[in-house]
Amino acid sequence: MRDLTKREEYQLQLGRCPACGCGLFQPGPRGGLSQNFECTDCGRRFNLAIAAGILLVGQFIGDADTGTDWTRFYAAHRPHMLREILQEMADDSQTHQ
Ligand SMILES: [Zn+2]
Repeated sequence: MRDLTKREEYQLQLGRCPACGCGLFQPGPRGGLSQNFECTDCGRRFNLAIAAGILLVGQFIGDADTGTDWTRFYAAHRPHMLREILQEMADDSQTHQ
C-alpha cells in the first residue's frame, strides 16, 4: 500500500485508472468516507476517500491477483464508470445533510 501521487489522484478525479486509463471500476469494501475500487481492466485497486464527489485522498492498495477475495462484491455490485460513482456519492452526501 502506498499513497497516490498528485498525478494519479488527478487521473482518478477525472474518472480514469492512472495505470491503464480505463474508466470502469468495480466497487469493493467501503468504510466511512473510504471506498475501495478495482479497475476492471488492469485489476489495480485503490482506496479512495470521497466527499461530495471530490476525491480527498487516495491510496494504491494492490491488485486483483494478489489481493483479498472480492467475489462477494463482484456478486453484489456491478462495475460502474468511476465518474458516475463520484456523482452518486456527491448526490448521496447532499441528500443526507
Ligand atoms: Zn487500470
